[in-house]
Amino acid sequence: MPYLELDVPRKLFPMKKVLLLLVLLLLLGAGVFVFRHNNAVVEPPQMNETTIPPTLRDVIARADSTVIPAFSLDYLRGRFDPATHPDFTKVAPEFTDRDGTYYLRKDAYAAFLAMHAAAAKDGVQLKVISATRNFDRQKSIWEAKWTGERLLEGKEKAPQVYPDPQARALAILRWSSMPGTSRHHWGTDMDLNQLNNDYFATGQGLAEYQWLTAHAPTYGFCQPYTAKGLARPAGYNEEKWHWSYEPIARQLTDQARRLLTDQEIDGFLGAETAPTIGVVEKYVLGVSTACKGG
Ligand SMILES: [Zn+2]
Repeated sequence: MPYLELDVPRKLFPMKKVLLLLVLLLLLGAGVFVFRHNNAVVEPPQMNETTIPPTLRDVIARADSTVIPAFSLDYLRGRFDPATHPDFTKVAPEFTDRDGTYYLRKDAYAAFLAMHAAAAKDGVQLKVISATRNFDRQKSIWEAKWTGERLLEGKEKAPQVYPDPQARALAILRWSSMPGTSRHHWGTDMDLNQLNNDYFATGQGLAEYQWLTAHAPTYGFCQPYTAKGLARPAGYNEEKWHWSYEPIARQLTDQARRLLTDQEIDGFLGAETAPTIGVVEKYVLGVSTACKGG
């Protein structure tokens, strides 16, 4: 018996070595395959590959190449609850002003986190101060302004200053969307740092805006509401704080162009003005070239 016990480890030892060698070879082979496969497939155009983490590259490449079929008319108009929608996630409080609970689409959030980290390395702090607002939320903002309960730009009581419904809607539209037409419905759009163009004109705000205009496109973000002019003749005023996750938002913009009409913008006070204003064409589609895509 003692003989046998001594013999067992001697016989098994070379077998173990061979097995270990085989496993190592297999792992090496798999590693080489994955490396080559990733490099062959994930090559987003116009991206600086050295600055984008591989996970984000995957997100952007997937979003670029996949047309998401789930963008129904109800999705476009924000008629869902981001708190329970499977494609949405809560923005962690450390990335926000902590004034509220914010939701974004998971793909847009992943891209934002990568951009946030890159900005922080350059000494720029990005803070989400608004993100997804669904139809009901936008309706309460719009109707508070429509009825005069909330003043326009802190001074105008809309029904008194603008008794004509179309004039009143246009006055509110300077800074707020009609319910059903906001890019904030989509989960791709967020407001950063301050809701004030003057803030972004000097000092720290200017440095933040310069960083965003230089680097946000690397992470898939564009500014939809640039200064009005030849390239963007209609729509909202310039908003230097509003950024859109373009790979998905472009698909939603395309879908809005195909599906959304002024008649479907309804369900709130003053909705009857949507067709005469041409709210879909002027406001939903009145975005910068960078956010429209090719
Ligand atoms: Zn915004």
